[in-house]
Amino acid sequence: MPKKRKSGGRSGGKRGRATMKHCHACGALIPADKAKKYTIYSSPVDYRLAKELQSEGAHIPRQKKIAYYCVSCAIHRGRTNIRQKDQRKSN
Ligand SMILES: [Zn+2]
Repeated sequence: MPKKRKSGGRSGGKRGRATMKHCHACGALIPADKAKKYTIYSSPVDYRLAKELQSEGAHIPRQKKIAYYCVSCAIHRGRTNIRQKDQRKSN
């Protein structure tokens, strides 16, 4: 059977078994090298208030959160797009 992708949709080469991560949206267990990784910055302060305070020179701390999405959730949320065969290799 022909392969759709040389890597099988994974990154990291011939590493063998990868560590498993939970999908941020559906909770499915997915291998970390196949998951789509996104960094989410969140602040406890409302963004309109934060913008106003920042313009006055205040420093507002923000929390860095790393989210992993499975491929189907990433596509559903518009994080990644389905691309034509010739466009797949770019990025
Ligand atoms: Zn998911």
